[in-house]
Amino acid sequence: MNKKMIVAALAIAGLASPAFAQGKLNVIATTEDLASIGREVGGDRITIESIAKGYQDPHFVEAKPSFILKLQKADVLVAVGRELEIGWLPPLIQQSRNGKIQVGAQGYLDASLGATILEIPNGNITRAMGDVHPLGNPHYWMDPENGKRIAKEIADKLSELRPSDRAFFQQQLASFTARLDEAEKRWLAAMAPYKGTKMVTYHRSFPNFAERFGLDIVGYVEPRPGIPPTPQHTLDLINEMKRMNVKLVLVEPYFDLKTPNAIGRDTGAQVLVMPPSVGGVKEITDYFKLFDYDINLLVKSFAKVS
Ligand SMILES: [Zn+2]
Repeated sequence: MNKKMIVAALAIAGLASPAFAQGKLNVIATTEDLASIGREVGGDRITIESIAKGYQDPHFVEAKPSFILKLQKADVLVAVGRELEIGWLPPLIQQSRNGKIQVGAQGYLDASLGATILEIPNGNITRAMGDVHPLGNPHYWMDPENGKRIAKEIADKLSELRPSDRAFFQQQLASFTARLDEAEKRWLAAMAPYKGTKMVTYHRSFPNFAERFGLDIVGYVEPRPGIPPTPQHTLDLINEMKRMNVKLVLVEPYFDLKTPNAIGRDTGAQVLVMPPSVGGVKEITDYFKLFDYDINLLVKSFAKVS
């Protein structure tokens, strides 16, 4: 029996409908942010879920056996890249033994490829000193302009794997981009009165966000990305904040509030827990709500400060 005859036989048996022949692409994203964007682009032609949850530190995710099972069945793996997942993803990919999603295979997508990446180090890479951002800042999804670029990468990858659905994926991309453009205008308008506001953040999760929305991040609670606060660094930071009159400290949901609260007490700064990811708190159910939530949080706190 040749292939044509098998298809014909299956068709007679009612099994070779297009849906059966093609199935939905099974996409796994490393983070909820990428899963949200992927869902917008893939619509009902894909299934998509994330490995890390938005309330977890994406640099340090506990590798569970269930993640390997997800990856075993994946057609596509979308990763943030820039070594964000270097501490946990490579062994999962390897142990999945899924040839489709190995780094460099057709089903592996590094979502950072088209994105604007900030803080690219010049000179020596400093991972030896504990820096978890050796290839530039991997929190680039915090700029909606990069959200559009990520969506385009995903749409192109899905189109490559399912050429028959190319028009659908490109139309989904156009719709997502248009809705994001509209939302971005609203977000920029809400933030415009606070341009140049100085603040400190715990980790370097927000440089892309700050650049897009005109904020001035002047220091970090961590002495280096991935390194917990030290007494000397905290003291220097407090002095700097007093000198520059900084009244806001942003903390990602997965960090201990002890040091930020101590800094707040000493400087009179507000300490805000601000999620950098979809799923960071339960109200943030998609990529749009991430910016809605964070910008609303900031605007409310700016009103209190001024
Ligand atoms: Zn980071």
